Amino acid sequence: MIATFNPGPSKVYPEVPAYVNEAYEQGILSLNHRSEGFMNISKETVELVKDRLNIPESYKIVFTSSATECWEIIAQSVTRVMSYHFYNGAFGERWFTYAKLLRPKTKGEKFGLDKLPDFERLKLPKSTEVICLTHNETSNGTRLPQMAIEMLHRKFPKPLIAVDATSSLGGISIDFTRIDIAYASVQKCLGLPAGLGLMILSPRAVERVRQLNERTHYNSLANMLDHMEKYQTHYTPNVLDIYLLRRTMEVRYGIQPIHKRLDEQYKELCDVINDCSKLDWLVPDEYLRSRTVLAVKASSDEIPEIHKKANEAGIQLGKGYGDHKAGTFRIANFPAIPREDIDKLKEFLTKHYS
Ligand SMILES: *Cc1c(COP(=O)(O)O)cnc(C)c1O
Repeated sequence: MIATFNPGPSKVYPEVPAYVNEAYEQGILSLNHRSEGFMNISKETVELVKDRLNIPESYKIVFTSSATECWEIIAQSVTRVMSYHFYNGAFGERWFTYAKLLRPKTKGEKFGLDKLPDFERLKLPKSTEVICLTHNETSNGTRLPQMAIEMLHRKFPKPLIAVDATSSLGGISIDFTRIDIAYASVQKCLGLPAGLGLMILSPRAVERVRQLNERTHYNSLANMLDHMEKYQTHYTPNVLDIYLLRRTMEVRYGIQPIHKRLDEQYKELCDVINDCSKLDWLVPDEYLRSRTVLAVKASSDEIPEIHKKANEAGIQLGKGYGDHKAGTFRIANFPAIPREDIDKLKEFLTKHYS
């Protein structure tokens, strides 16, 4: 099988086919979503996700169908007037765009790849209800350091803090105590087939949803939370993906060992890439560089050649994204990627580009 480093959809855990078979054998694929059986799976999944990812007991989790859906849910069900968005890449910008369509007063601030916004000197409009951040910007390989979230939380205690953790949840240990809303879809660091999203809500966020009580959309968050009281969903959910999430969480001990392994792999890949004279980093400052999605720069003439050579070696690299399409390729450093594949990639890069 080809070693894929595509940052989404990405490599799924190798146990997935066995679990799919198991789900089929046990009748889970045809399980009614109002049944006791489904409610048990759903409850166990939520409890395991909380336990394994260190999510506080008091937080709620709802199932959505994607991260994109969460963008709209936050604008429609958590925001009355405006959210404030900080972004430096394509996913953060798209979230801002969706929010603005529903709440035209929404504001955003773009920052560069080499520098965080000056949060200390920042002033936010008084009506800011939600501060929206991208925890890991998949398009350009930047991350938002925990310190930045803490600083914002300290300086602006009133607005909720929402983070898009699509390419970090399940790979990076996240401190949820300063975060009110975090969401992700499962086809990145959670190593599962696409078609399921998770939204994690602090008690403060739940309270806000209850206050607004927005019920004019099929995916009103108030309605979703009502159904989750019984571990149900208001629509027929992706039961298979929920089951796969439960099974993959069950066999792992927690986020710390995964985080540590990804950190080590990141360092190994850094050493290799630093030694490659024809390759460079899109994000020079290591402090701002993502640990789960590495964006590597090369001349735009070279890029198609790199993909071609990689393919011949049985490796699929991630294509550059958006503004960086022509001059970069991306490497997913996700938990489901087997160790052998990382070694294969290191060998390939060293052989051709150092
Ligand atoms: C992949 C990705 C999304 C979109 O996820 P969908 O499941 O396609 O909705 C959103 N944000 C980030 C940061 C992503 O990496």
